[in-house]
Amino acid sequence: MIRTAPSPPIPLPGRRDLLASLLGGAALTWLTPSNLARASDPAQQRYICLEPDCSPYVYDPARGDPSQGIPAGTAFDDLPDDWVCPDCQGPKSSFVPFG
Ligand SMILES: [Zn+2]
Repeated sequence: MIRTAPSPPIPLPGRRDLLASLLGGAALTWLTPSNLARASDPAQQRYICLEPDCSPYVYDPARGDPSQGIPAGTAFDDLPDDWVCPDCQGPKSSFVPFG
């Protein structure tokens, strides 16, 4: 008679693990505190350029735009009016909220 070793106790899954099993890893990646904070804070809102020639470029306030002297932490609304897309030189009006 072969006896198998007793299984180790299975820990109860935390909420994140439960969500991961229900929704999959991609959804879990979305449910990070930083993403939730970003969604509720206009100063952290990202904007994407819709110019057809653009790759497109996404302005992220957390990164700013060093190529034009914009420091990290600058909200899109606080960019100077003469700021242009670093990728296609499109105007601010070509951008829409993203993410
Ligand atoms: Zn652009």
